[in-house]
Amino acid sequence: RQAQYAALRDKPCVTRDGEEVQLHLNAGLLVDLPHIQETGAAGIGLFRTELQFMVAAAFPRTAEQYRLYQAVLDAAGDRPVTFRTLDVGGDKVLPYMRVVEEENPALGWRAIRLGLDRPGLLRSQMRALLRAASGRSLKMMFPMVSAIDEFDAAKALLEGELTYLRRHGHTLPERIDVGAMVEVPALLFQLDELFQRADFVSVGSNDLVQFLYAADRGNNFVADRFDAISVPVLRALRNIVRKAHAYDKPVTLCGELGSKPIGALALVALGFRALSLSPSAVGPVKSMLLELDAGAATRLMDDLLDNHAPKISVREELAAFAAEA
Ligand code: PEP
Ligand code: MG
Repeated sequence: RQAQYAALRDKPCVTRDGEEVQLHLNAGLLVDLPHIQETGAAGIGLFRTELQFMVAAAFPRTAEQYRLYQAVLDAAGDRPVTFRTLDVGGDKVLPYMRVVEEENPALGWRAIRLGLDRPGLLRSQMRALLRAASGRSLKMMFPMVSAIDEFDAAKALLEGELTYLRRHGHTLPERIDVGAMVEVPALLFQLDELFQRADFVSVGSNDLVQFLYAADRGNNFVADRFDAISVPVLRALRNIVRKAHAYDKPVTLCGELGSKPIGALALVALGFRALSLSPSAVGPVKSMLLELDAGAATRLMDDLLDNHAPKISVREELAAFAAEA
């Protein structure tokens, strides 16, 4: 199997009916970087910057962040990297940060909420990213955006850092794309406003599914109770893809849903043409996609979502479709 996947590495990821699907990697530490070459991935679709903060003994200084981001961009070369700003809080605790007691940490003071309330932290990270990407392309996205003004406020901080660096004579990135994670259900109803501002979006299906079903992703009693490959989740995702196409903006998905072949099949059927996966998922997902008739999968998916029969399992229908092909 491994050898079989390795042989696929340099093959373009194109479905049987000619649809190109970009497979990117989820990463977060230096040790992840060799996977880019090993898998032949199109880039890094999600760089989880909080990992550096989680393994450190104290807040990493701007210079340390800068060195990591530069190493990541160097390793990626011409391939794009999407950096996600700090997603701490909730279950991602920093040992050196004062713990805030919260009854519902997943719904609490985390990610962009914490970043906007502690702008020094977010600005230091933005400065490190802007400097690391000097003269190259920078893609930055904000986690757990729930309201449009959070996106605007984060972008304003970024503008402030740009002004500062410009004034001090630094070479800026030659291009900056600013995006948002779609992982809080409230954003599903503000997609027009979001796409009017964001250069791209990336769906965080781990959190989005947790919040759509109100089922803690880390609690074994409920985590598997609801299937992500189900009508409500898939309708939400289809709507995001349609909006992205209407605004002509890139859309990708970086949650675990894309890391299983059946999940990736569902996503391509919904219209996703870029996914970000765990490195070990690239081989299995790619070998499935090379055999897929994406057009037929989309027709089946639309039929399942538009003529919903509660007794029919979308997962089983997709699995049967994959087995027939
Ligand atoms: C997600 O929520 O799907 C996601 C990619 O982010 P994380 O798993 O880091 O919360
Ligand atoms: Mg998330």
